[in-house]
Amino acid sequence: MVDFDCSASADLSLVSVARMSDEDARNALMALRWASSNGRPICPRCGHDEVYFRKSRRTFLCKRCVKDFSIVSGTIFAFSKVSAKDLLLAACLFVGGAKGVSGLQLSRYMGRQYKSSFVLAHKMREAMQRPDLGLRGVVQVDGCTIGGYRLAANAVGEFGKRYYQKKFGNRRVVVVAREPFGNTKAFVGKKESDSLVAVSETLAADTIIQADGSRAWNSLARQFDLMRVEHDKAYSENGAHTNWAESYFALLRKMQYGIHHQIGAQHLEAYANELAWRQDNREMKESEKITFLLTRCLRVRPITSRLIT
Ligand SMILES: [Zn+2]
Repeated sequence: MVDFDCSASADLSLVSVARMSDEDARNALMALRWASSNGRPICPRCGHDEVYFRKSRRTFLCKRCVKDFSIVSGTIFAFSKVSAKDLLLAACLFVGGAKGVSGLQLSRYMGRQYKSSFVLAHKMREAMQRPDLGLRGVVQVDGCTIGGYRLAANAVGEFGKRYYQKKFGNRRVVVVAREPFGNTKAFVGKKESDSLVAVSETLAADTIIQADGSRAWNSLARQFDLMRVEHDKAYSENGAHTNWAESYFALLRKMQYGIHHQIGAQHLEAYANELAWRQDNREMKESEKITFLLTRCLRVRPITSRLIT
């Protein structure tokens, strides 16, 4: 039996990873993937733990099913040409961005092409998604519009009216459900009411919802205790407000304008929930976040099949 020295990397940081040799980086990744066996490789096909190490190919050969596999076989990083050290570095850089890291920024850091960095960033973004997250207690619900910009025509048109030269059809409404001091979940639709079913499925039955005066939330009153605050009269009424949701939207706008500049409508929900993850885990230690993210990336099955196909 081959012995692998895979002492779990306690403190992963950009500097500690940069100082690692390729072998150390591979061992750190193995410790994260096969944490239950202390880094000893386990065949992803048959679950057998006795393997040969093929040094020339940097792969393992299962003694039972005689199949080859690598550290990333069967995970979201499968078939990736990115080395173990580069994966660790990418994870450190990606987690380090307070409001995210853009594909272009990552490509400059990594010395890779934009498309390859975009895909790598999306894989890590997928690991930040929490499709099974439920919310309870007091939850604030609110919506904000992202995208769908209009380009005004140069000259004033007929009847003195300024027409639009072009209207972009990627206008979407991000609806957020956020527990004060708790978890956050974002949904995307063309209008606020598109997300109502998803919102109600996320909330526990005894949830108290705090929302603004928008008519879109009226139907939530059938299932939940709904507290309204009319924003044309006050920001807070009887202790009900949506300041936590508004605070999330302020960050979402900063993420859009400051980091990504443009977010495609088809990816907006992934970005919105990435920010939700970053906000909810903002007090976690950096090394814990990196470990958590990589552990999720190295699960045998993808977290959702919605983003990466
Ligand atoms: Zn096997």
